Amino acid sequence: MSDHEMTFSKMPLDRCSSLRKDKNWLLNQVKSKNSIFIPIWRGNYFFVENKLLQLNYHELELSAENLTRKPFIFLGLEDRLSSQGNYAFFVIDCSEYQEEKLSDLFTKNCQLIEFRKSITLLSAHQAAILSYAKSLSHWHHSNQFCGFCGQPSIADCCGHSRKCTNEACAKETFPRTDPVVIMLVEYQPKNGPAQCLLAQHHHSNYQVVSTLAGFVDPCETLEEAVTREVKEEAGVDVSDVTYIASQPWPFPGSLMIGFFAKAINNEINIDNDELVDAQWFTAQQVRQFDNWGDEGGNIQIPRKESIARYLIEQWLAKQPHI
Ligand SMILES: [Zn+2]
Repeated sequence: MSDHEMTFSKMPLDRCSSLRKDKNWLLNQVKSKNSIFIPIWRGNYFFVENKLLQLNYHELELSAENLTRKPFIFLGLEDRLSSQGNYAFFVIDCSEYQEEKLSDLFTKNCQLIEFRKSITLLSAHQAAILSYAKSLSHWHHSNQFCGFCGQPSIADCCGHSRKCTNEACAKETFPRTDPVVIMLVEYQPKNGPAQCLLAQHHHSNYQVVSTLAGFVDPCETLEEAVTREVKEEAGVDVSDVTYIASQPWPFPGSLMIGFFAKAINNEINIDNDELVDAQWFTAQQVRQFDNWGDEGGNIQIPRKESIARYLIEQWLAKQPHI
């Protein structure tokens, strides 16, 4: 897998950060015949015969609940063909409806598919747009109340900020991204091939081993976070922390920041609250592992859509075949 194939990272839309502050401009986009509205329900999307459900303004009006009355979140403009002009993308949140009502909501016969499972049905561009929409939608749901005074807040700026309804407070807040460092740690013995540190996490299937990862603490550099997390989780000291790549991760709203690091020692002492196990593996061993979700009892590594897998693949590419 090469860098340009990283899932969720191929955003085709111009986010129009300045233009979207202009209410008249936004209104024109909403009413444009080119505009595309993507309904979201509790982080998941609708599909018609395995194609993403996308509606125009007229179809929203025809929907059972006249969804044009609901607030939209503006995502951005796609410049498809100069002769056709720009296409504005919006996401429209239908999470308030009960699941059994969803089938009546749209005139098209559609199916709700859990987002992670729907990725194989999406183009790289669609995956990026939907991950952006999912993260924004989650931010609104988890920020219904002002964090300063506790009063309700309302969406503003077409979904790109929220404002406290308490006039004495009136705090404005903006969407947040949680930085997470994720790192492939390599140990080079004096003799023999290099090894990488892969761990079995409590939250994943017992067969799956992956890189270490963790949230960045307040007032911590990314390099410090890598060093701290590896020490805390596996008891290993690292040096030479090198940035490799990043990936938006909409589960629910993180940015995964990927590194390589070199182990100073190879003695592992895991934190049992964080990990089930951690081991050093050679490239020859890792190349024999299966993919997460495969049948059989072999050890598995994360799916190709994840940066964990990308880091493993990048490391493997540097290791000689023996
Ligand atoms: Zn407030």
